[in-house]
Amino acid sequence: MSGTGAPRVVVVGGGLAGLAAAIGCADGGAEVTLLEGRPRLGGATWSFERNGLHFDNGQHVYMRCCTAYRRFLDRIGSAADAPIQDRLAIPVLKPGASGGEPVVSWIRRSGLPAPLHLASSLLTYRHLALADRLRLGRAALALRRLRLTDTALDAETFGAFLERHGQRPAAVEALWDLIALPTVNVRADEASLALAAKVFKTGLLEESGAADLGWARVPLSRLHADPAAAVLRRAGATVRRRAKVTEIRLAPASTDSVGRRRATGVVVDGELLEADAVVLAVPHESAAELLPEGAVIDPTALQGLGRSPIVDVHVVYDRRVLEHEVAAAVGSPVQYVFDTTESSGLDPAHGQCVAVSISGADDEHGQRPAVLIEKYTTALAELFPAARAATVVDAVVTREHAATFRGAPGTRRLRPRPESGVGGLFLAGAWTDTGWPATMEGAVRSGVAAAAGALRALGNERGAPRTTEELSEEVVA
Ligand SMILES: Cc1cc2nc3c(=O)[nH]c(=O)nc-3n(C[C@H](O)[C@H](O)[C@H](O)COP(=O)(O)OP(=O)(O)OC[C@H]3O[C@@H](n4cnc5c(N)ncnc54)[C@H](O)[C@@H]3O)c2cc1C
Repeated sequence: MSGTGAPRVVVVGGGLAGLAAAIGCADGGAEVTLLEGRPRLGGATWSFERNGLHFDNGQHVYMRCCTAYRRFLDRIGSAADAPIQDRLAIPVLKPGASGGEPVVSWIRRSGLPAPLHLASSLLTYRHLALADRLRLGRAALALRRLRLTDTALDAETFGAFLERHGQRPAAVEALWDLIALPTVNVRADEASLALAAKVFKTGLLEESGAADLGWARVPLSRLHADPAAAVLRRAGATVRRRAKVTEIRLAPASTDSVGRRRATGVVVDGELLEADAVVLAVPHESAAELLPEGAVIDPTALQGLGRSPIVDVHVVYDRRVLEHEVAAAVGSPVQYVFDTTESSGLDPAHGQCVAVSISGADDEHGQRPAVLIEKYTTALAELFPAARAATVVDAVVTREHAATFRGAPGTRRLRPRPESGVGGLFLAGAWTDTGWPATMEGAVRSGVAAAAGALRALGNERGAPRTTEELSEEVVA
């Protein structure tokens, strides 16, 4: 306990999981120290400045059904900076034949209840032959019937499931992968059915508004890191950047009631920082190195979660080339493209900034920026005729080699719960067992769950404000 009698919680890692855990613990009355190894907070969500404009490390999107993430945005006062569409509406473009106008078809929801809300859009989806459109319902209904608690779902790929339910490769490429790839970060033929089913059931098949999209209109660091740091400061928490933890220290003998060893603190900059509870909210590869013996069954097995890259190509044009806030593409290397003019700070009178987001970017992440810029500006010109006459004022490539774990079959059993086998040590991170793929929602959920676990273990629920309690109930249930 601290001098004030409040329990001391150390949170290791300042990504969304660590920020959510730190805020949850501070809201619950703990004395919190957040340790982040890098000079900045925000983890996998960050921004940088170049020639006076702001760019994100990669476009980030969430859905209306991302309830924990939305509450986190509310808590840090950022919700208005990442508004959600009134109704899901995404134009899907295909390059026109012989350089002609692109073919556009929309994925949008109607006012009907789920799953009928998407029916008219899918029945008129021009990028699929009528026979393929008519088959979509069969797989959608089969997905809707799956039980997410069924562990067998993680033994099969989403692609194999789609094939079993009559989906031809054309339908996988032009429709199912439009959703599976950016959410699970691998294509359907590699994705775990469990993770894809979570996204499709929760996002598209059960609630009509669940998949309405939201994204930031300010740089990500301004959306997450800065306001979260301010909340922590106001709550009296200590935030240390450039503070890389090298060890989790345990008490020499079993001290807890069930015979587990107890975490007593962490080593940072060669010094022991004592704590009554530790939340480890680092990526799985760092966790594998830091976890003390007994915390999880086999820390080395965490490496089996693998990694999947995301690459973004950001292009600044001298004029407006993209009429939509967001568009998807088929028959093109472009997967999704966003108008980022507002968040970049570019005056729309002087041009347009767009970000092409490439998930599952195994082929792209090793390529030279100049090659990627050439490839994607050419692809953008095929999709958006206005880009053909425009001048590229600047372009930059962001590459995240380990953007997420690789959401393949067999990963579920590798993802640990927040409670570890060491007393007072809790795990968080988008890679832990949240049921979600590696997403902002998963990260925040894991942080809230770890905070709830730590507060419960410290017997400190009495002081927890209602919002923290509600979140904990929802997340831990
Ligand atoms: C380019 C890109 C695009 C993405 N797009 C989307 C999207 O559209 N929608 C979506 O929902 N998700 C998206 N994601 C995934 C999402 O960003 C992540 O799942 C989430 O942010 C992970 O949060 P986290 O806190 O679990 O981990 P991280 O953000 O990785 O945070 C872990 C932190 O721990 C720190 N750390 C590591 N070791 C130590 C140590 N020893 N001591 C102290 N600190 C340490 C790290 O520096 C890091 O800051 C995307 C990710 C990337 C990279």
